[in-house]
Amino acid sequence: MNIVSKPLCRLDLRRQGGPRRPKPFAGNDLGQNAQSGHTGLEYFNAIPYNRKLQAESWKKLKIGENMFSNANVKIQELAKHPDVQTFLENRRKIYSFDLISGHSCPFADKCLSKVIIVDGRRKIVDGRNTEYRCFSASQEALLTNVYNKRSNNFEALRQKTTDEMVTIISDIMPNNLGICRLHVAGDFFNRKYFRAWLQVAESNPDRLFYAYTKSLPYWVDSLGNIPDNMILTASYGGRCDRLIHQLNLRSATVVLSYERAEELGLEVDHDDSHAANPLTKHQDFALMIHGPQPAGSEASAATSELRRKGEKFSYSK
Ligand code: SF4
Repeated sequence: MNIVSKPLCRLDLRRQGGPRRPKPFAGNDLGQNAQSGHTGLEYFNAIPYNRKLQAESWKKLKIGENMFSNANVKIQELAKHPDVQTFLENRRKIYSFDLISGHSCPFADKCLSKVIIVDGRRKIVDGRNTEYRCFSASQEALLTNVYNKRSNNFEALRQKTTDEMVTIISDIMPNNLGICRLHVAGDFFNRKYFRAWLQVAESNPDRLFYAYTKSLPYWVDSLGNIPDNMILTASYGGRCDRLIHQLNLRSATVVLSYERAEELGLEVDHDDSHAANPLTKHQDFALMIHGPQPAGSEASAATSELRRKGEKFSYSK
């Protein structure tokens, strides 16, 4: 596990009267130094979300149009798990609700990548501290429909009040939704949005909602008020990892090998069952590195090694 001694999140820094911009993370479970970075990568450092530029690039959908997505291959596997069957009775299904990656992830750090528009074309850029590239951002660079849908979802919600977001989400939630994975792509982008999902979960106690998040300050603000059917996992690699230790939040760690998962004493989740299962919601677990990784990075070498050994790490098939 990470043992981090310096304040990393904006909350801590504000309390101490320090600079708003956090210091870079000093190390991680992968044994890397965040400062080593990747040579030859483009950094956006602080490219803001440019609504006009981004908006010109996607086909606008009406609010409510196709905002939820069918379960991807990995999440479909979850449907076989015995502990979640109660939520899938009466032919209910699993969906996801996704936002544009990186732009909606205020606390992402080592995973941070996002698609920007350059000369009218989508282009993926990595963050200053990126050590493993965001899988969903890679999808958005490649797949126009995926990019459009996630951008539209973000645009539909990002400047709304909590009540407005609750109304939008509730109105468009499929009737046959039994389980919803929040954010195959994206994260809780502000407090209002986080609270909107808590309210949605509270109003739908017969449905299960689960999410990985690096937006830990929003979670921490609502500790004690998380509905039983909202299962959260703190995802290492964000700017507030320190809160995981401080508050003993349930966590997931991206690892580069099965050996590393074993060293850490963590089971590897292949089907989101660790992330979603209400019965094991306090149990930490590992996720195997997956998706295209920056050339020359340790993560890229790890995926090559996993492929060479024939070990499972991709969820696309
Ligand atoms: S928080 Fe998730 S969606 Fe956002 S950049 Fe990191 S991996 Fe991608």
